Amino acid sequence: MLLLLYFYFINFHAPARSHTQNLHIGGLFQHETEQKAFHLATNLVNSKYKNSTIRLIPDSYLVDNFNAYNTYLTTCELLQKSVIAIFGPSSIHSSLTIQTILDRKEIPHVETYWDRKLLRHDCLLNLHPHSSIMTQAYLEIVDKWNWKSLVVIYDSEESLSKLSIFASSCKQRVTLSRLELDMYDTYRTSLTSIKKTGETNFILECSIEILEAVLRQAQQVGMMTERHSYLITNLDLQTIDLAPFQFSGANITGFRIFNPENEDVMTIADQIYTQEKYKEIPAGWLLKHRTALLIDSVDLLYHAVLDLTLSEQVVIKSQILYCNATNNWDSGHTIVNYMKGQTIRGLTGIVHFDNEGFRRDFDLDILELSLGGLLRIGAWYPSTGLSLHRPPKPLEVVKIVDETNLVNKTFTVITCLTTPYGMLKETTQQLLGNDRFEGFGIDLMDELSSMLGFNYTIIIQEDGYNGNYNATTGEWNGLIGAILSGKADLAIADLTVTAERESVVDFTLQFMNLGISILYKKPKPVPPSLFMFVSPFSYTVWILLVVTYFVVSLCFFVMGRLSPSEWTNPFPCVEEPEYLINQFSIRNSLWFTIGSLMQQGTELAPIGISTRTGAGVWWFFTLIMVSSYTANLAAFLTVETLVTPFSNIKELSEQTEIKYGAKRGGATANFFKNAGNDSVRSKIWHFMATHDEEMTESNDEGVDRTEKQHYAFFMESTTIEYVIERHCSLASIGAPLDDKGYAIAMKKNSSYRNDLSAAILKLQETGKIARLKEKWWKEKRGASNCGSQISESAATPLNLQNVGGVFLVLFVGTILGFLISFIELAMRVYGNTKKSKQVFKKQLIEEMKFFIQFQKNVKSVKQDEEN
Ligand code: GLU
Repeated sequence: MLLLLYFYFINFHAPARSHTQNLHIGGLFQHETEQKAFHLATNLVNSKYKNSTIRLIPDSYLVDNFNAYNTYLTTCELLQKSVIAIFGPSSIHSSLTIQTILDRKEIPHVETYWDRKLLRHDCLLNLHPHSSIMTQAYLEIVDKWNWKSLVVIYDSEESLSKLSIFASSCKQRVTLSRLELDMYDTYRTSLTSIKKTGETNFILECSIEILEAVLRQAQQVGMMTERHSYLITNLDLQTIDLAPFQFSGANITGFRIFNPENEDVMTIADQIYTQEKYKEIPAGWLLKHRTALLIDSVDLLYHAVLDLTLSEQVVIKSQILYCNATNNWDSGHTIVNYMKGQTIRGLTGIVHFDNEGFRRDFDLDILELSLGGLLRIGAWYPSTGLSLHRPPKPLEVVKIVDETNLVNKTFTVITCLTTPYGMLKETTQQLLGNDRFEGFGIDLMDELSSMLGFNYTIIIQEDGYNGNYNATTGEWNGLIGAILSGKADLAIADLTVTAERESVVDFTLQFMNLGISILYKKPKPVPPSLFMFVSPFSYTVWILLVVTYFVVSLCFFVMGRLSPSEWTNPFPCVEEPEYLINQFSIRNSLWFTIGSLMQQGTELAPIGISTRTGAGVWWFFTLIMVSSYTANLAAFLTVETLVTPFSNIKELSEQTEIKYGAKRGGATANFFKNAGNDSVRSKIWHFMATHDEEMTESNDEGVDRTEKQHYAFFMESTTIEYVIERHCSLASIGAPLDDKGYAIAMKKNSSYRNDLSAAILKLQETGKIARLKEKWWKEKRGASNCGSQISESAATPLNLQNVGGVFLVLFVGTILGFLISFIELAMRVYGNTKKSKQVFKKQLIEEMKFFIQFQKNVKSVKQDEEN
């Protein structure tokens, strides 16, 4: 208000100068700031040339751009006030209406926005840089940025027509896409469908009023990441708050037509933006380019009028005009033509028109959004083109900020639909965005994002490949290819860390460990055998048992002969028999031993201490052996013994009946491909390479084949665990062949790798990852317990280790029996020699001589007594 009073005072109460001529100028504006700027601009030129005889008197109205009739009436009102020029309005809709009247009345019409109807012969002057020139700037930048294709995003017919020349002269592949408000009053639906094209380069042409919202919504749908580049054509880019996108990593380029920190700009802007709400930002940054152009255009008009007056070529005399009359103003065309021929230096640089009356000579500053805000990185001149002198990036700052702060970053995360790492939700509802997916990998990403504060958008690798290098094309496919091409920032799936992949991308710490194993049908029970009774003992034990039987029988024979007590009277009724017999003949010894082994009695009863000792130990032995046999036989009869046609990869590689394979191009196939000197792995790879039909496109296909055909599938142990939990006819055969893990992949030297690794470690330490595994492996999606039903074959034959002890006891017992039999013999000989006064040694030798005559089974009593 004070400012307006000030204008009023300056305009009407300044000391009167001789011959001062007051000339009215009209303005039709949409915004108060433009109206204010118009009055301010008039005041500025009046005070700048205060000693001249010309004074401009502003007369302005706020008009509704879409109400052409009212604008028409207001224009007529201005014409009746004898205006010498009209500025505005700022919309093509009402501008067309008043242009017709002003052309007819020959009143200069000054515009400050890009107007596609601009023609050479009009009374119209447009200070906005001409679009054909702006197009050249866009083309050069698109070339410089090396874009191969791009999407032009526009918000109205007017925006589209601005870029139509660009679209038709662009060498790159251009797609046009209009921003439409969706049912939620946002542009997210349009942006999401643009995102689905996979395009990452955008030219954004939209009004400044919606620009901030469009950028924010682009960020929300995941179009504001390191892979995305924007060229924003609106010359007021600097006036919006770009702080939320500063750390997004997206490459945002724009233009400006004046320097907001220029002294003149700041002075004028300070006077326009006086309200409290503008205090936080230096006013120059708030000044819109149209306001600056308006100020320049008033300056231009003033110069023209002044020059014409001073040169006395024309006497400028304003005239009252009526819309419904046929009169017009004589000086109008002269002023417009003079203005077109002038050159002045305004806020927006050199204001100069070409011979067609278009503003072609202007400088554009090229701006880029950096971590420190909007930065001037160069300029574009119509004569010399693009000149970039980007200030060096504060590397350290970039690094520190990047490494420590993932907050508010948005990543594109790519995954494969591989059970259970990434799956589509099974629901009848229509889901959108990340909501469509679930699985171990998705949950893990969710945990990481809430720990580190980043946002992410999931996209799918349609072909399901994790990443394989093609030596012929020199390219990677699958998830690794997507990371390398910049289609995604992170890849999470059953993505195995391999040396080859590690050489082109970075991996986080492994979040899961595994090894390659074989998926095959569950082992089958062996059909009962006729000779099952042999199974409880191993062959060694059986042989040893037979040998022991013979040895022990022989020992009884020997002990029997040595032990004097075993020589007994054959006829108990005859008190003094002539000879004695021994019950432990060879035949009887064998019979006695077998009788007790079979748990049957014989009529033979040992008499001597030695033979009784021997018999006791033998009975103990048979007791243990028979009990062990019986127990183990029971186990064999009750427990099914399961068998597989192979139990390791060597056996698998040696047979031909069962075919086998792995996922095509996966880490498992590559494990065999890179077999080196390992002959078994090489043999397996040879089979795989020559039987491509046995390789599968996915794990699911492998599982299906394993179930239905004679087929074994090489798979990673964690996935096997998942499969056998749900497919009860399948099992994992043999031990894991290697030891590796899954991790999240990202571009080489990514600054966020450490943060992600640290977060994974934390999730491991807190048991979160183990819980997630439990959830997806054991609880969700048809998990059953069939995995735990796989039982190892329980009954095994007893071998020497199991029964060796009892053989030892028998051995020691038998030796003891022998010793005792010698002692018995010696005592009997000693007793007899004492009675008969004979020499002990001689008698013992005699006895031994008899002992070794094994064929003699009868001992004469005389001899016995002599002895
Ligand atoms: N995890 C494997 C990879 O990253 C895919 C499955 C496989 O090869 O067994 O390629």
